[in-house]
This record gives sequence, C-alpha cells and structure tokens, in this order.
Amino acid sequence: MMIKKLLPLAISLLSLTITAQDALTSKLYETYEKYKEPSLEKRRIKHNDLKPLIEQLKSNPKFEVQKVGESIEGRDLNLISIGFGSENIFLWSQMHGDEPTATQAIFDIFHFLDSPDFKEEKEVILSKLKLHFLPMLNPDGAEVFQRRNALGVDINRDALRLQSPEGQTLKRLRDSLDASFGFNLHDQSRYYNAERTEKPATISYLATAFNYEKDINDVRAKAMKVIVFMNKIIQNYAPGQVGRYSDDFEPRAFGDNIAKWGTSLILIESGGYPDDREKQEIRKLNYVSILSALYTIATKSYENIPTEDYEKIPKNDRMLFDLKITNATYGLLGKDYILDLGIMQYEIDKKGHNDFYYRSSVSDQGDLSTYYAYETFDATGYKIIPPKVVSMETVSSPLELLHQGIAYVKGKLPEEGAYVEMPLFKVSETFELGDFNLQPGVNPTFFLEKNGKLTHAVINGFLIDLNKPLENQETGNGLIYR
Ligand SMILES: [Zn+2]
Repeated sequence: MMIKKLLPLAISLLSLTITAQDALTSKLYETYEKYKEPSLEKRRIKHNDLKPLIEQLKSNPKFEVQKVGESIEGRDLNLISIGFGSENIFLWSQMHGDEPTATQAIFDIFHFLDSPDFKEEKEVILSKLKLHFLPMLNPDGAEVFQRRNALGVDINRDALRLQSPEGQTLKRLRDSLDASFGFNLHDQSRYYNAERTEKPATISYLATAFNYEKDINDVRAKAMKVIVFMNKIIQNYAPGQVGRYSDDFEPRAFGDNIAKWGTSLILIESGGYPDDREKQEIRKLNYVSILSALYTIATKSYENIPTEDYEKIPKNDRMLFDLKITNATYGLLGKDYILDLGIMQYEIDKKGHNDFYYRSSVSDQGDLSTYYAYETFDATGYKIIPPKVVSMETVSSPLELLHQGIAYVKGKLPEEGAYVEMPLFKVSETFELGDFNLQPGVNPTFFLEKNGKLTHAVINGFLIDLNKPLENQETGNGLIYR
C-alpha cells in the first residue's frame, strides 16, 4: 500500500528533477559562448598558453591553485580546486599530449564557475562537492603535440610502475583526494563511429572496468549511471553520435586502477564531428556534459537511473574514412573495374607544432560497403583519370589547370616547406610522373570524368567540384615534391 502511494510521487519527483535538469542543460548549451576561453581556439595548445590563465586563477579568491608536480622537462602541474562540499571530485585532462579538447573545456568551466550567473545551480554544486581539476597532465607531450611524454612513455600505461613524474603526481592526488568520482578526459581518433551507423563517435564514454571479468560493483555502477545521464544530454545536440568505449581491462592503465582503488571512473573521449577539425563543437559538448554531470552528482538525481541503460549505448567502432568514393570505374591494363576508395586526410604538424597541413592516403580500396565517411561521393558512371604534369613558373589560376586535368606543376620550388596552400602539387624539374597505379598507401590524386568531361579533381585526398569556385570548397592543400 505504502509503495503504491509513494511510487507515483517518486516518479513525479524524478521527472521534476529531470525537467529542471533539461532546462539547465539547454541553458548551458545556449549561453556557452559567454564562457568560452577565447585564447584556446586551436588544438595545438601549449603549457605557455595556460600559464596566464592559471595566473589569473591564482589571484581569484574563489579558486585554490596548487603546484602539485612537474613534468620531466620541468613544466608545472597545477591542481585547481573550487567548492566547499565534503565530496571530492577529481578531473584531469590531456594525459596524452595531443588530446587537448577537455583542457580547453576545463578553462571554459572555470569562467562559468567564476561568473555571477547560474547562481542556484552553482550553489548546489559547490556546497555539496569540492571540484579538483588538473588540466594538461602531459605538458611535455603537448609541446610537440604527441601522445607520449618526454620519456617516450605512455603515461596511461604507467599506473603500476610509476616511472613518470606525471603519473606519480596523478597517483598521489588520487590517493590524497580519495574522490568519489574521477573524470579521465581524453581525445580519440576521429575515425571512430557509433557501431553499425555512419555517425562519428563524437563523444565516447566508459565506466572503466576494474578487473578482467568486467564486474559491476557499486563503484562502477555509479559511473555507469552518470554516463547514461550524460549520454541522454549529448543526444540532444549530436543525435546518434555517442559511443561506448571498449571496457577491456588494461592492468597498466590509470583509469582501470583508479576504478580499482575505489573511485567511480568516467572516461570521456572526444572524437570527431563533421566540419569541426579543431573540435570546438566537441569542446562545447564536453563543457555541457561535464557541468551537467557535476550537477547530477551534487543532487544525486543519477541514483535512480538503471545501469542496464548503459549497455544500450552503441559500442565504438572504427569504420570511418574522411572521404569515400564509391563505384568509380578504374581502368587497369586495358580493362575496367569498379572500385570504392577510402581516403584519409592525415594531419602533419607544421614546424613548431602550432598548426598542421594535410598529407592524404588511400587507406583501402575495393568493396567498402561496410564503411562510412565524413564525405561520400557516389561515382557511379564516373571514370578515374590519371593526372598530368606541366612546366610553369607561376600559377595564376589553379582551377584552370585542374580543368585541364593537370595536378602537378614543375618549376622552381620554395627554399623550404612541404606543402602549398593551393590544391596542386609543386614538383622539381627532375620529377617524373610514373605509371598511375591506385594502391592502398598512395596519395589520392586523380580526376573524375563523366560523359567525356572532367567534373571533379581529387587532389591530396580532397574532392574538388570543378564547376564551383575553389573559394567555396574545402580544398585542403597541395604538397611539394622535391
Ligand atoms: Zn588518450
């Protein structure tokens, strides 16, 4: 009897919290630009970019800033704390130097916490919880935009041996804070998709396992519930674009051990999003989902979420290309074949690791019907045409050359550099265009012809519509062959 009466009340209370929560989430999303830290707009951020921001926090009485360690090359590791609650929450980012998205989001979260807005919600969060952030755990890796630290070690395989000072700092903090929840913040490859869908896994979550059996104890169940909650939020803004990261146990990894040591461990992986190479939309999704998660942890509204819903999130798969060209006709030794091409537009760091250019590659070819891509072109009825080379000192109109099927220009090369802005190859006088042969690993550069007319160029892996001005298209860059 009691239960019968209480149940509708409990349900209406639950839906009330969910509605209030939804309102908060959409308000967080809509007002985001106000809190975005403008100096961190590109992924190749460095420790030096964070320094002035951390100095500002030091002089802000709302925040506690503590130097908690140093990287191998002597860069400070800082712990930034805020709140008065008895429950510690620990968030760390960029343990892998080339995974900066959450670091950017953390500084947006600082602006949010410092602002006079969202008073009620922040009061709830900061009275119940004490938040501890360690942004950019691997500053030496970030300096050269690489995964590993200066020792060449993957810090996320150093949780047991603890040779890296960065790993030692993380372990020491985990033990002293004894946080109820830990947020392990990473980036994953943009080529992950939500299993059996064409949608990129823009965000992937994992309630990290603490043993090979992948048992679910109370600590892990709490992480699962909060993840179900965050997934629901992201679905509003990136429908279908959430994946579940593999829960295979890795005995050397920090996440797995921290879960074992008793902290509910939430892994967030920032993946890819169409037309968002610098991952600024994904950064925003991090901001919204982390803040919403902190709110649900503070209110404990997540506790009623069934853990079974966690398993309903599609698994991560890795079936994406940047560009997929399907059903193209390819001639080889006098015979025609039908081919799909899967193309990757790989990033190569420029000097100083502050920016990048593209060097693309055919990743696979043949029947690629089980794969997806950020951009797909149906080339049924189109023939692949090998590119031509011409000698020319200055190029005034790249599009004109492309119309003539020319992709390579012989002439004097700049003193240094490996790429050109325009979608053409600059090659040395001695360059020889060998036989055209499409194979996995080659640079995808050719033309497409329909009814005897060139309609498209593929230059360094970027598809160019020859009937449109180049300015209105994403044309990537050309390369220099010396
Ligand atoms: Zn990572």
